[in-house]
Amino acid sequence: MLGLGVDIGGTNARAAVVDQSTGQLVVAVKEALVDRSPTGVASVVASLVERAGRGHPVAGAPVGVGFAGMLRGDVVVNAPNLGWRDVDFGGPLAQRLGRPVRLVNDLSAAAWGELKGGAARGASDSFTCFVGTGVGSAIIAGGRLLSGATGVAGEFGHVKLVAEGGRACGCGQLGCLEAYVGGAKLTEWMAESGLSGTPSDLEKLALEGEAVAKGLYDFAVGHLALAIANQVTVLNPDVLVLGGGVLMRCPGMVRRITDVVMERTSVAARQHLRIRLAELGDDSGLVGAALLAVG
Ligand SMILES: [Zn+2]
Repeated sequence: MLGLGVDIGGTNARAAVVDQSTGQLVVAVKEALVDRSPTGVASVVASLVERAGRGHPVAGAPVGVGFAGMLRGDVVVNAPNLGWRDVDFGGPLAQRLGRPVRLVNDLSAAAWGELKGGAARGASDSFTCFVGTGVGSAIIAGGRLLSGATGVAGEFGHVKLVAEGGRACGCGQLGCLEAYVGGAKLTEWMAESGLSGTPSDLEKLALEGEAVAKGLYDFAVGHLALAIANQVTVLNPDVLVLGGGVLMRCPGMVRRITDVVMERTSVAARQHLRIRLAELGDDSGLVGAALLAVG
């Protein structure tokens, strides 16, 4: 059986045909998102699904569509990359494609992809945390994706690091984890502190002992690591999956997270814990979206 997955990013959209039994990509195609309006994005998705599916037996197969943002059923509540709020996207898209559509959060899709065909293969419980432009997570408990009462469980980037105030986050609140360690906000914070470059430049300077860089890095990464350790204490996962562009380029952050998790989680919660880097790279969201569409 073959499934269809779509991953809508900030600048590109991708679509793939995925083998549902193995989680392997059969074919993947990509297109730039020039017009980010809902109808513009729907056109790109329609063309990508048609291109990916050509020559494969996917007539009428459901398609899973991954978004960076908050979703409620067919409605995209908030997708900051696209500037969308409360857009009814799933229904009109299903009509246009002539096949069922399931909208899925990109991190939920990535976590499901890693569970079925990547770093968390064989696990029943995983906590997946990606640090890229932003910070996201997804929780799989007892083999099921945890969605919460209104579908927004796992918004790990917006746990607060300070009791009052704090740096401004893209979500409109203050003091969120993402406002300190998400790639976009960390780069802003570096610039305000007179440091140029990317988070991996910050890591290099901090590990060399440069005082300003070390101050920022220790606060951001120390709090990220502690927040992850606290999730492990609460959730008792088999596997902690770490990924996203910032963590993949900053091995020091991964080492710090590993050390803090091993020191600061409750002993019982980490007894059988495996800490793994995401294995599917940019494909985890595509694979997971395709598998969630039918699951
Ligand atoms: Zn926030």
